[in-house]
Amino acid sequence: MTENKKNIAILGSTGSIGTQALDVIRANPDKFVAEVLTANGNADLLIKQAIEFNPNAVVIADETKYAYVKEALKSYDIKVFAGDKAIAQVVQMDTVDVVLAAIVGYAGLASTISAIKAGKQIALANKETLVVAGEIVTQLAKENGVNLYPVDSEHSAIFQCLTGEWHNPIEKIILTASGGPFRGKDQAFLQTVKKEQALKHPNWDMGAKITIDSASLMNKGLEVIEAKWLFNLKPEQIDVIVHPQSIIHSIVQFTDGSMKAQMGLPDMKLPIQYALGYPERIYSDFPRFSFFNYPQLTFEQADTKTFRNLALAFEAMNIGGNAPCVLNAANEIAVDAFLKGKIGFLQMSDVVESCLQKVDFIKKPTYEDYVATDLETRNVATELI
Ligand code: NDP
Repeated sequence: MTENKKNIAILGSTGSIGTQALDVIRANPDKFVAEVLTANGNADLLIKQAIEFNPNAVVIADETKYAYVKEALKSYDIKVFAGDKAIAQVVQMDTVDVVLAAIVGYAGLASTISAIKAGKQIALANKETLVVAGEIVTQLAKENGVNLYPVDSEHSAIFQCLTGEWHNPIEKIILTASGGPFRGKDQAFLQTVKKEQALKHPNWDMGAKITIDSASLMNKGLEVIEAKWLFNLKPEQIDVIVHPQSIIHSIVQFTDGSMKAQMGLPDMKLPIQYALGYPERIYSDFPRFSFFNYPQLTFEQADTKTFRNLALAFEAMNIGGNAPCVLNAANEIAVDAFLKGKIGFLQMSDVVESCLQKVDFIKKPTYEDYVATDLETRNVATELI
């Protein structure tokens, strides 16, 4: 820590979570330093961020853009690296206190594991990391004395409800879901939807992949698996309820029957700031919630018949082993194909379901098994498409 400031490595600084994390750092220069910034291919935004925040190092994953970034930053005292391996290395720098894992998808797994091995505290946005390899990641975190601070708003809500309750058993948790832009629609309607409609989320402004996952309810399915690992729960202890206003971010029910919920206006800066600042609650000027603007908070059952992805995620979690890894890889390929107009909205679930049937099951996978499962599933899914 520099003069009691936390030095943050933001993996995926050019994304939706990454840019909002930089908003939080900009607003709290006495608390946080942007120590490392990384991007995949958006070199121009990475350069702009580097010039504003003056980090120790930046990494561009796309190695073809290295020379461009290096040239643009040549008059600054900022180290420039390129490639996936460099991301996994910079997180281990002595000067890094907290790693915000905000790369999207399986691509974020290796760097998060590397940071955990170096004993860095993790603010975890990249839910796919726990979906793919939750057992290994949580075990490693335990061995290295690393806390995984959730950034996902639902998991942040659970975490906030658990503060002061660490020794009290959880009966169950209830994850809230907005229901996405197609809540209440039937399969006939979903057959016809285009990516432009799916990319319009009613309450949250997020990256493309998670926005499609939210529309298909796969996002909630991934969150269910993420919650199992973060809070050490049995599958039957996790419920999902649709709450279209996204004001109650999730709920914990304790064994005395009492329930605690965390509420607030939907703004990802809040859980990001909580994860980075924990255990401190830092003042913010974000808009405050008013009950009179929301005279009714409503709740519905999730429609897992129409939105099969949520049922498939529960199924993969119950099977265990490498099944959630298959679910995730198949979904990443399916979402990419949907965004490129190669398959329809409902076919995304078909791809995931077929992959769960076709890819060999491994009961107790090693890290190498997960890597192989991910690759094999991507091949199977690509062939299906
Ligand atoms: P975005 O697509 O907006 O951003 C992704 C970031 O990861 C970008 O910085 C991107 O770089 C970088 N990136 C993508 N692929 C690679 C790769 N192969 N190697 C290295 N870097 C890569 O995603 P979000 O910010 O929306 O989501 C990030 C994670 O946070 C996801 O796991 C998501 O599920 C989770 N999350 C997001 C929420 C949100 O509100 N957005 C809410 C809760 C969780 P570049 O810009 O150069 O392409």
